[in-house]
Order: sequence, then C-alpha cells, then structure tokens
Amino acid sequence: MRALRVPRGLLFHDPLRWRLFSTPADLAEGKLRGFLEKNGLHADAPAPKQQPRLRQLFWVRVEDLPSREVRTRPGARFACACCGQSCQTMKLGPLLPADVERLRRADWNGTGRDRSTFFVDEHDQPLGEYSDAFLRREGSRCQFLRDDNLCEVHARFGAMTKPLMCRMFPYVFRATPAAVAVGMRLGECASAPAAAKGLPVVEQHDDLRRMLSEHDAIGLVPPSVWASPDRLITWEEYERIESDLLARPVGGFAAAVFRAFETAPSPKPGLDDLVAKIGLPNRPPRKLDPEAAELEDRFCRAVLFSKELFLHQDLARAAALLVIKAHLARIEVADGSPAAINQVWKTSADRPLRDLCRDLDVRGIAASIAAS
Ligand code: SF4
Repeated sequence: MRALRVPRGLLFHDPLRWRLFSTPADLAEGKLRGFLEKNGLHADAPAPKQQPRLRQLFWVRVEDLPSREVRTRPGARFACACCGQSCQTMKLGPLLPADVERLRRADWNGTGRDRSTFFVDEHDQPLGEYSDAFLRREGSRCQFLRDDNLCEVHARFGAMTKPLMCRMFPYVFRATPAAVAVGMRLGECASAPAAAKGLPVVEQHDDLRRMLSEHDAIGLVPPSVWASPDRLITWEEYERIESDLLARPVGGFAAAVFRAFETAPSPKPGLDDLVAKIGLPNRPPRKLDPEAAELEDRFCRAVLFSKELFLHQDLARAAALLVIKAHLARIEVADGSPAAINQVWKTSADRPLRDLCRDLDVRGIAASIAAS
C-alpha cells in the first residue's frame, strides 16, 4: 500500500484489493490511524486476497490530482489536417454538460438550425432526461460538418464553442503520481502522416492546460502498478522503463515493450485461430516501407506514452495485445505505404481485440510473434 499527497488530502492505494481510499488533509493523527486500521491499510493488517482488475486507472477529480503539471512527449508534433474524417467515423460524445450548454446558448438565429435537434443519445435516439448527450449525425457525418469538411460551429463561433472532445482529439490526459501525461491517439487519426509533422506539442501547453481545467475528472495511474499478474512495480520503476523504451531507435518497438514487462515469455500457438476469427486473409505480415515502418513505430510510442497499457489488467498482457495489434495490421494492410498502414490502424481502432482474445493465451501468442 502506498500513499499519494493530493491538494485536499491523501490517497491510499491498495493494489491487492485494487482500491483507492481518500482522507481529508486536516485529519488528526489519531483519526488517521483509526481510518487506516478500519480499512485494513495499516502495517499489521493481514494481506487481503488479490482482487481481479480490468484496468489500472482510477477516475479522480482534476482538483484531487497529485500534480496538474502537463507533460508531453519530447519531440512530439501534431496539427489537425482538417480532413473531417474523425467527424464522420468516431463516436460524437459523450458531451460534457458545459458543451451542451455552450452549443445551445450560441446565436443560431438566421441559420435555419434548430437547437432541439442538436443532441441524441449514444444510440442516435432522442435524448432522454438521464442519457449522455451525443452530437446528432446526418448519415455518418456530424450535423455540423460542412461539405468542405470544415466545422460549422468553429467557422461561426470560433474553436472554443466546439465540444471539448472535438478540441481535444487526438490528445488524451492520463494523470500519474508525477504529472499529467498528454498522450495522443495517433493511430486513430486518418491524417496521421501529415498531422504528426505539425506544431511541436510542447508549444501547445497553454491550450492543453486550459483543456485540462475543463475536465471534471481524469484517469489516474496509481503509485504501484502490476507489470505482470504477479509482479508489482512502483510508478518510479515504470517511468524508468518507459523512458528507456522511448529512447530506443526506431524499429521493433511493440516487441521491446512486451519484453520489458513480460520477463518469462514462452511462445504458444493461437495466432492462426485469431486471424480466422477476425476474418483476415491467411497470409504473412507485409514488410513496410521505411516511412510506413516509422509511422507504425510512432503509433506504438504514442500508445505507450498515452499510458494506454494501463487500460488493461497488467502491463505484460497490454503489451502483448499491442504486439498482436501491430502484427494484425501488417497482415491486413493493402501495401507497404504510410497511407495504407495509417488506414488500417484507424479502421481497426474500434475492433474489440481484448474481447476477441479473451480465451487465448495472448502473452504466448505475442511471444511467438516477437520471436519470429
Ligand atoms: S462539432 Fe465540429 S469538430 Fe465536432 S464533430 Fe462536429 S463537425 Fe467535427
């Protein structure tokens, strides 16, 4: 069990029961001891039984984060290419109450727009009183996406009127005990080759801080994390491993991430079953052009820096899924160009790989891919 100091008190992380406990800052020593004893968090408490986990992130209010310093990946660049693809291929919500309010309050007079049709629920049905709001689509496109693929809300009222998710994409905030990492869902951007040559992300810190303050809560990586099902490491150890990985030269990145967390990999069959289950052609993975291989490497680095591995129960399993994802993309890709690999990563972003692999030995399959 490790504790984190946060502005309004302390967070205690119990990695075995997978729980986060919070206490107010001004709790007197005696009361704090009582709290720890009552919750089985003191040194003499019997070790609890390990509870199953689905992910390694806790949802924490922004004002309760241990640090609100934003940290971006050195050398990362991004500028939206305004291709409009995300506005016609991604889920358009859930929106924040402030997004809904801003769009409703904007001056739509004379535009022919009807505010009562702006929002729907997750299934594109009329918005119920308790449902999350999503932007209504016309066909597959957001209702505000113009024929020239620009956003009508942005054009009429400026960027700040757009929903936060539109301004955020492809950035994602993941809090850690040290800072808020600003990750990127680069593999989901349809124009990644061009967009990833845009503005240095480090020059966007003011905008990023503003967007962070608009969030109610974000996912926090706790101070102790599971590298594999039976290996707990500290956040500081994880950070060292991550920065060593990010300093590697281009090439073999997903396999290197896997080897960093999977200490005793033993290759197992099962890949062919998965390929057949997904309906991919039975052919070997394609060799990529150097530029496409570099783009694939960037996608994998973005996954690591975005702390996406923590969306799974342990880092070895998450890294195994990354190895498998990169391998499947190379099987699926039509040719070895950057545009083709970009398209496959984008279209496979919604594939429920985790569910498809539920009954498979993903670590064994990844070990066999990494060894080939
Ligand atoms: S509001 Fe604008 S940026 Fe957001 S999805 Fe619609 S068209 Fe795209």
